Amino acid sequence: MLTKKPKKFEYNLIAIGAGSAGLVSTYIGATVKAKVALIEKHKMGGDCLNTGCVPSKALIRSAKLLYEASNSKKYGIEKCDTQFNFSDVMERVQNVIGKVEPHDSVERYTGLGVDCIQGEAKIVSPWEVEVNGKRLTTRSIVLATGARPLVPKIPGLETVEYLTSDNIWNLRELPKRLVVLGGGPIGCELIQCFARFGSQVTQVEMAPRLMPREDADAAEEVTRQFKSEGINVAVDHKALRVEKDNDGDVLVCEHQGKEVRFGFDKILLALGRKANIEGFGLEELGIKINQRGTIDANELMQTNYPNIYVCGDAAGPFQFTHVASHQAWYAAVNALFAPFWSFKADYRVIPWATFTDPEVARVGLSEDEAKQKNIEVEVTRYGIDDLDRAIADGNDHGFVKVLTAPGKDKILGATIVGSHAGDLLAEFVLAMKWGIGLNKLLGTIHIYPTMAEANKYAAGNWKRAHAPQTALRWAEKFFRWRRG
Ligand SMILES: Cc1cc2nc3c(=O)[nH]c(=O)nc-3n(C[C@H](O)[C@H](O)[C@H](O)COP(=O)(O)OP(=O)(O)OC[C@H]3O[C@@H](n4cnc5c(N)ncnc54)[C@H](O)[C@@H]3O)c2cc1C
Repeated sequence: MLTKKPKKFEYNLIAIGAGSAGLVSTYIGATVKAKVALIEKHKMGGDCLNTGCVPSKALIRSAKLLYEASNSKKYGIEKCDTQFNFSDVMERVQNVIGKVEPHDSVERYTGLGVDCIQGEAKIVSPWEVEVNGKRLTTRSIVLATGARPLVPKIPGLETVEYLTSDNIWNLRELPKRLVVLGGGPIGCELIQCFARFGSQVTQVEMAPRLMPREDADAAEEVTRQFKSEGINVAVDHKALRVEKDNDGDVLVCEHQGKEVRFGFDKILLALGRKANIEGFGLEELGIKINQRGTIDANELMQTNYPNIYVCGDAAGPFQFTHVASHQAWYAAVNALFAPFWSFKADYRVIPWATFTDPEVARVGLSEDEAKQKNIEVEVTRYGIDDLDRAIADGNDHGFVKVLTAPGKDKILGATIVGSHAGDLLAEFVLAMKWGIGLNKLLGTIHIYPTMAEANKYAAGNWKRAHAPQTALRWAEKFFRWRRG
């Protein structure tokens, strides 16, 4: 192992992993004319493109079409013919990946000036990365190795070919009975799709509700919709073991002190994602791992080695593509410009969405978090069932909920449940990021009739609750006087 810092380096930056985090890091490096390399052992684009965001959203689209067609009566259309082959749907998912692929491709990144290397990287010293038997020297390294599905130690699980978000995309036959373990975003998005395609589905979650990270009212809206679509929602169920009986494989759970059995043809594990931290030199170097099992980083996205940075799912705590890109900016800029310039990662306004139907989108504080942290907030709601466009579209359900500082219009957080919630939230993200309050949001023209008007009406509800009562009493007297 080379222990002395080399006098010269082949690269300014080498990123390990070509998912969102590694791609953005090297994009930034190449843009500012640094010499950068990107090493990927599997597929360019990482999880987001190949097994995550892109395939899941493509699948959601097909499932939604089917659901709407089978509910066409609601739109005044007696019947829609909805014959389909599940394998065609899964092929379409692959076609969508193929269409997005060029954005993350070797060709594109090579064109941008990035040296793309296919192979498994290993860090052999703080300034050297080995790949395909060759050692490359670099002034800084960005760890962008991502995460993989967590596989729990459930007795008997090893006896079945379980599905995860990694291999579910290889399915070409619709499972008749599907059990999904996990009530988080990935489990919720996928189970709704399979229910809509016609699988008999059960969702098992240990917590008392689905989407435990979201507020209870948001989770309730999704649960109600899930139940209406025939999804067996088994919350407060702890998975004990997998076994076989005459009908095939069975997941045995504990619920209120009793054993409950769910038979299945396929079981999908959606229990969270474990950072990739093993087998590429971190142990040998003594890179610190935190209690969450991700690579420990300071505010500059620096590990305990000052020239080794980390971003994306390998760093956490927010495992989203847009957070990976956000962190990648700090990791790359700090890696390239420190000690002359460095910037602390800004986590004040992190939005996310779960793309169930209805979608659940959130930025900043939730009501539950405010309670836990003893933060005083005012909560303003607007029911989307009241919104003209939502009614016209048959999407009149859900709500906009805004948390503000007491007596002020400063937005501390927002949760939106409903159709296009992920898109609607952007206005609150912008407002929070740039310190725009509800008064200004209310004073902004929103196109009629759009879903985005829901945000304005939420601001309107806040304004009504803060109407200046004394001034209004004076106004009443004034107009009485003017009427003579
Ligand atoms: C089903 C599903 C749906 C999702 N939906 C969304 C969504 O809608 N919106 C959203 O924001 N996020 C979503 N996510 C999360 C999102 O995919 C991740 O947060 C994002 O991909 C993280 O990017 P990353 O670059 O950190 O890691 P990854 O994308 O995992 O990339 C890491 C890469 O590093 C490579 N690698 C690892 N070790 C080495 C090594 N030693 N040498 C070379 N290469 C190596 C891996 O092969 C991999 O390609 C979803 C995830 C899943 C599973």
